[in-house]
Amino acid sequence: MKYCRYELNNEHHYGLIEPVAGREVITRVVLIPPGSDEPMDELPTRKIEQIAVAEAKLLPPTLPSKIVCLGRNYAAHARELGHELPSEPLIFLKPPSAVIGPGKVIRRPKDSARVEHEAELAVIISKRCRHVREDEDVREYIRGYTCLNDVTARDLQEKDGQWTRAKGFDTFCPIGPVVNDELDPWSGVSLACRVNGEVRQQGSTADFIFALDVVLRFISRVMTLLPGDVIATGTPEGVGPLVAGDVVEVSVENVGSLSNPVADDTAG
Ligand code: ZN
Repeated sequence: MKYCRYELNNEHHYGLIEPVAGREVITRVVLIPPGSDEPMDELPTRKIEQIAVAEAKLLPPTLPSKIVCLGRNYAAHARELGHELPSEPLIFLKPPSAVIGPGKVIRRPKDSARVEHEAELAVIISKRCRHVREDEDVREYIRGYTCLNDVTARDLQEKDGQWTRAKGFDTFCPIGPVVNDELDPWSGVSLACRVNGEVRQQGSTADFIFALDVVLRFISRVMTLLPGDVIATGTPEGVGPLVAGDVVEVSVENVGSLSNPVADDTAG
C-alpha cells in the first residue's frame, strides 16, 4: 500500500495512492482518528475525486514527535569520514521543526560553510513502541518507508563534537513524499542521491551494519516511539556539499523520489 499527505482547499489529508491508467493517483482519503495506532490499511477511507500524485500539493507524509537518526550504519560511509565501525547503533535526534516536504527550499545557514546531503531510507512508526521483545516481529511497528535527506552542516558537526546544531537547522529534514509499506529493507532496497541530476550517492540497505530489527529494539529500550515518529536509517558513502542553486534528489527503490532546491538563508 502506498500513501501520501497532501493539501487541498487549505485542508490536509492522507491519500491512498493506486495505479490508474499507468499513473500514480490519489483515489481515497484515509481517515486517521487522533492518536490512532491502527495500520493504515485497516483505517476507514472515503472515496474522492481522483488527483494525480504529480499534480497534488504534497506535504511531509508524517508529523513526527521526534526523528531518531542512525550515525554510521553503512561501513563505507563510516570509513569515508574516518570513523571506526560502531559496536552498537549510534543514535541522535533531529528536531521536528527541521521537517520540510517535497519541493520546499533547504536553507543553508550563515553559520556554516559546508552543508551536505545524506540520502536515507526513513521508517515511519505505526504504533506506540517501547521495549520491543526479541520474539516480536518489528514489522508490526512499521507503517511504511519513505525518502529522507539528513542535511548536515559538516563543519559544525566536526566543530561542536556533538550534532544537535549541525543536524538541527530548520529545513534540514526533507522527507517524503510517498510512503510504501511493501518494501523489505532486510533483503536490500536501493537508494540514491542526485545533485542537479548527477549521481552522488548510491547504496543498498543490504549493507546496513545494524538491521532494522536490531535498530528498533535498541531505540525502544531508550525512548518510547509514537505513531508517526521517524527513524532515519543512516547514509551510504558519497556525501558531499550543497550550494545555493542546487537541486538535490533522494530516491528510494519502489518509493519514488524527494526533490528539494537549495538556497542561502538570508534571514537573521
Ligand atoms: Zn544521516
